[in-house]
Amino acid sequence: MNIKNSNLAFQEAKKVIPGGVDSPVRAFKSVGGIPLFVDRAKGAYLLDIDDNKYIDFVQSWGPLIFGHCDAAIEEAVIEAVKKGLSFGAPTTVETLLAQEICDMFDNIDKIRFVSSGTEAVMSAIRLARGYTKKDDIVKFEGCYHGHSDSLLVQAGSGAVTFGTPSSPGVPSDFTKHTLLAKYNDIQSVKKCFETSNDIACVIIEPIAGNMGLVPADIEFLDRLRKLCDKNGALLIFDEVMSGFRANLKGASGIVNIAADIITFGKVIGGGMPVGAFASRNEIMDKLSPDGPVYQAGTLSGNPVAMSAGLASLKKLKQNPLIYKELEQKANKLMNAFQKIAEKNHIPLQINVRGSMFGFFFNDKKVLNFDDALKSDTEMFAKFHSKMIDNGVYFACSQFETGFISTVINDEMINKTIEIAEKIFKELK
Ligand SMILES: *Cc1c(COP(=O)(O)O)cnc(C)c1O
Repeated sequence: MNIKNSNLAFQEAKKVIPGGVDSPVRAFKSVGGIPLFVDRAKGAYLLDIDDNKYIDFVQSWGPLIFGHCDAAIEEAVIEAVKKGLSFGAPTTVETLLAQEICDMFDNIDKIRFVSSGTEAVMSAIRLARGYTKKDDIVKFEGCYHGHSDSLLVQAGSGAVTFGTPSSPGVPSDFTKHTLLAKYNDIQSVKKCFETSNDIACVIIEPIAGNMGLVPADIEFLDRLRKLCDKNGALLIFDEVMSGFRANLKGASGIVNIAADIITFGKVIGGGMPVGAFASRNEIMDKLSPDGPVYQAGTLSGNPVAMSAGLASLKKLKQNPLIYKELEQKANKLMNAFQKIAEKNHIPLQINVRGSMFGFFFNDKKVLNFDDALKSDTEMFAKFHSKMIDNGVYFACSQFETGFISTVINDEMINKTIEIAEKIFKELK
């Protein structure tokens, strides 16, 4: 495969942008090789600047559930652009998008829009702290909630620890209020509540998508809900990835457990920068300007981004069967991967939730971050690079989630399976 132009572009980019990328996950660091520079995309396909064409299972890391350049979203954006890019004053499209989302959830009365998932979660945490008047928070190892200071915490495995920052530049004073628990392990959460009586909230990806795809057990989430209630802590579902992706109502719709605050991002922006956090009146009313908890944004609720999100959500609501179809395709792909892996004696674990799918080169079922880390990342790197060479674009890390969009048809799935089969044979 010729990637001469990408190579040159990467050299140039590295001179003026750290690592040549504006988000480190794009850098292909964990799989070797260099990031492909994209020229354009259409439907299910991504085209790089050397004119190589790939079936895209990344879909901008989730947002594009209708694939690239969806006509309805494109049209809505162009109409909005013509009226002006940003006003810093309220527009009716914000209310329309808010209504679409609030109508869908019994446990949500109000929502506030921001410009990224990071901002949404950061604001939700502040709101939870302001509402409960408590300082500590509980997060789970392997869950990602954006790169804000108090959430950029990963743990040594095992026992409950007060978090240590996982990045220089984050003072440990900032993370000493972050307690770590183990995903799918209710005992570890109990220990957090025994360690601190100042816990404002527990935040979780109810379908974890940032350690690879690891869904939480329903019973675990149910017990988590009860533990939070018992201890006067709020439960936050971070559905930045799973919202409108796993199901029309995200994980909340699948497990039927009501969180106190839900955070959104990715799909609700339809490809534009949008995040949001939502809750019931009693909690949202604590937010500025109604209440004392401060939160703001110059470009928050940007009319162009809101229009993209609204077009996306309307289309999803009009086609509720989409999720079943997407899940069938994801299942078809993953079941085939498992079969060909078995045939070639390569250990593989698969997971599917709606349009989200994941696979680990691992001989044991993956229930938490420790399990995920035992995966064979070298095998993944080889697999990834060979798939790219054959025109299939998967996320460049073992610990990311794959996405099916509505424009991926059976033919593309079959072709991907065919290529994967060839590669699994070479890998064994
Ligand atoms: C992507 C993601 C975020 C961060 O969103 P950004 O828009 O990248 O800031 C937060 N939480 C979860 C679960 C995510 O998947």
